[in-house]
Amino acid sequence: MFTSSHSYYQAVASAQAQADANNANAKAAENQAQVEVLRQDVDRLLMICEALWGFLKEKHGYTDAQLAEAVTAIDLRDGRLDGHTTPAPATPCPQCGKTNSARRPRCIYCGSPLPVNLFTG
Ligand SMILES: [Zn+2]
Repeated sequence: MFTSSHSYYQAVASAQAQADANNANAKAAENQAQVEVLRQDVDRLLMICEALWGFLKEKHGYTDAQLAEAVTAIDLRDGRLDGHTTPAPATPCPQCGKTNSARRPRCIYCGSPLPVNLFTG
């Protein structure tokens, strides 16, 4: 079987390396599947945005230039034109005034509803 302990340890290391490679391949396949799901979500959201934008142009007369200007203004909220939004700032509770995460629907101190921000990521 094994002629020395050195061979035995080489065999163990080789088996472990193969198991690690198999795990890495499985993880890569899982990540690829998740990327594909996200890509499909983004495509669907882009189509919905395009349809909604079409309604706004046709029904209300907004222009592409106005949309571009509004997108730029949102991008510049953090002072950088980088194609990214920044997280919403903390929200003061309208009831008690204490600061809450913008993601919270209710104040963690008094339980009052907080103002809704639909675009808080
Ligand atoms: Zn409160």
